[in-house]
Amino acid sequence: MSELTENLERVREELVQAVHKAGRKQEEVTLVAVSKLHSAASIRELSNFGQQVFGESYAQEFRDKVQDLADCDVRWHFIGGLQSNKAKYVSGKCELVHSVDTLKLAEALNKKAANLDCVQDILIQVNISGEVQKSGVAPDVLDTVFDEVMALENVRIQGLMTMPPFFDEPERARPVFAKLKELQGELRGRFGLELPQLSMGMSGDYLQAIEEGATLVRVGTSIFGRRPVK
Ligand SMILES: *Cc1c(COP(=O)(O)O)cnc(C)c1O
Repeated sequence: MSELTENLERVREELVQAVHKAGRKQEEVTLVAVSKLHSAASIRELSNFGQQVFGESYAQEFRDKVQDLADCDVRWHFIGGLQSNKAKYVSGKCELVHSVDTLKLAEALNKKAANLDCVQDILIQVNISGEVQKSGVAPDVLDTVFDEVMALENVRIQGLMTMPPFFDEPERARPVFAKLKELQGELRGRFGLELPQLSMGMSGDYLQAIEEGATLVRVGTSIFGRRPVK
């Protein structure tokens, strides 16, 4: 086994343990291997090793990798900040966009999906901590954003995503994860949506996120090692 596949094995084992400890079912939690800035060859290796879902963060890099790996059995997720003028590279080309944080972006994804005659599944990114430099919809305007985005016919809201502030101590992210779960419950009731997906947890805190109800964990560094600088 290579270092890369060994890392993936280790993360998978930790994930299985965390799911077990949380009293949840394995099929409730999907590992998104965050491959941004890593090579198509690395993705191919992990794909051959059985990893299915990969997350990318940069629109043009995503577009190129989708082309390079067209022969691979990969399910793409787009997880990074996305400018609406680049939505065309992403919409209709991935299983899920995690990072929808403005109506303008939802509209751009909707427009491209309509052109392709498909429906793009999305998550609404929520800024729970209120850090000004973080993207995401503030909790107190979620209702408005849901109203507006639900009116778009070619995007479908599948749940919520969040990025906690950076903490040295992963336990400190727990209240942020718990809050996302709470918002999921409120929005379900208010809008009559299923909202099955909660995307939360990265290399440093995915174990806590799983205990707090994550269904998608986005793990990069623990699998691929340190990223090259963009
Ligand atoms: C890069 C990135 C990750 C992965 O972070 P790691 O700490 O390397 O696991 C997760 N989520 C988002 C939105 C990212 O941009």
